[in-house]
Amino acid sequence: MSDNPKLFPVFMNLVGKKVLVVGAGEVAARKIRLLLGTDAEIHIGAIHFSETVLTLTQAGTEAHFTLHQGPYQTEWLNDAWLVIAATQDRELNERIACEAEQRRIPVNVVDTRELCAFQVPAMVERGDLKVAISSGGHAPVIARRIRERIETLLDPSLSTLLAMTERYRPAIRRARPSLPQRRQFYNWLLDGPVSHELRSGNLAQAEFMLLSALKQAQEPAQGLVTLVGAGPGDPGLLTLNAQRALNEADVILHDRLVGADILALARRDAQCISVGKKAGENQDATQNRIHTLMKHYAEQGLHVVRLKGGDPFIFGRGGEELQFLREHDIAYRVVPGLTAALAGAAYAGIPLTHRDHAQSVRLLTAHRRPGQDIENWPALTQPGQTLVFYMGVKQIAALQTQLLQHGQSPDTAVAFIENATLKTQRVIQARVANMAEQAGEYNLQSPALIVVGDVVALGKDLAWFQSIMNQDTPEHATAKLN
Ligand code: SAH
Repeated sequence: MSDNPKLFPVFMNLVGKKVLVVGAGEVAARKIRLLLGTDAEIHIGAIHFSETVLTLTQAGTEAHFTLHQGPYQTEWLNDAWLVIAATQDRELNERIACEAEQRRIPVNVVDTRELCAFQVPAMVERGDLKVAISSGGHAPVIARRIRERIETLLDPSLSTLLAMTERYRPAIRRARPSLPQRRQFYNWLLDGPVSHELRSGNLAQAEFMLLSALKQAQEPAQGLVTLVGAGPGDPGLLTLNAQRALNEADVILHDRLVGADILALARRDAQCISVGKKAGENQDATQNRIHTLMKHYAEQGLHVVRLKGGDPFIFGRGGEELQFLREHDIAYRVVPGLTAALAGAAYAGIPLTHRDHAQSVRLLTAHRRPGQDIENWPALTQPGQTLVFYMGVKQIAALQTQLLQHGQSPDTAVAFIENATLKTQRVIQARVANMAEQAGEYNLQSPALIVVGDVVALGKDLAWFQSIMNQDTPEHATAKLN
């Protein structure tokens, strides 16, 4: 056999066909488990049968098992369509491979690529949907990693969607006789409300929608807005649901704070529109523009992702956006994200609660509507809690004055976390007594969080992210001050 064969990918029908597995240890068990997903007649030959294999054979499935106990015999190969050699004896595996080859029976020798007539790929399965990944046997680790990525992209509900599609295939064919019509229908199934209902586990509703759509000449254009939290910056902090939404979006309306490396994860032909505040525009005008855009695209039947930094419901006006969508009868979903306080504190090594120091956390905004002030300052300066201020870079002097006036000890530790979770993250330690001065000295820039409380001091020892980053970018050194 050639060292570097060009492989032909096949999915094989094994109904009623004999497949021989020689060996009955853990390695063999893995292959037997895969075979259980087919309707093959599974023959297993071995001297000893491991517990795992015995359990598999007794699993009460419909699979037909035949066990051959004893040393390998050539006759075991009789009538087999495939052979898997999974013994621990290399010479024996070689002999099996050789004898199978002579009889033209495709053979797989576990972990010995050069003896394999066929390889078993890494797989992602969603019911009848099977994605097989092969690196030609050169880099199984890379194939496995790619498998993991694909695993995250395919929602588990796809298997139900596929089963449903299979069930209604004749009806779909009748209702959409031409291929372009069917293609459009299947696209609607995958991207539209049926998939969304299945994801939420509403099988009956999904089925109802499919049937109603079939009764009409064309599937209804039904737009959807998904409010997605992108987290504070590090793309690794996106949730799987956020990534899936980005993959399915037709239009992405994103905040300015959402970075390019997160947008790079979006479907390639999605239209990305930055909806940040424009020069000379006030907040309300910006918000109205966002509402108009969401409505405009959703009414064309498109899937709009409204992508926000952090979590959509924490100082993100996500609530107002949902109220607007509801008023206009536009369907919506929400994918939560990691809010800056949680992620920033984690990346700065500051545990927001700690049994010895803080039993509660408050997330506050330092930015107010004109006329509104922080209610109840005395409650904020009570001991045993951690305060995290958002949008506070320009308000530090005012915050300091209020904290001191309401009895906060000037010694209480303060941290500024700038560009949290990004390569440019800076953590600046201060005290309430000198917080405004330190922010000025270090030229603190937005976006930044202001964390106040005894837990902050722990960050000096527990910080970890900065030291990793500093190996490449020494200019962003942690400023440790007292
Ligand atoms: N919805 C967002 C908050 C939006 S308000 C969330 O849940 O995180 C914007 C404020 O969030 C900024 O002024 C800053 O205080 C904070 N913020 C967002 N991203 C940040 C980051 N990477 N580093 C530090 N602060 C951040």
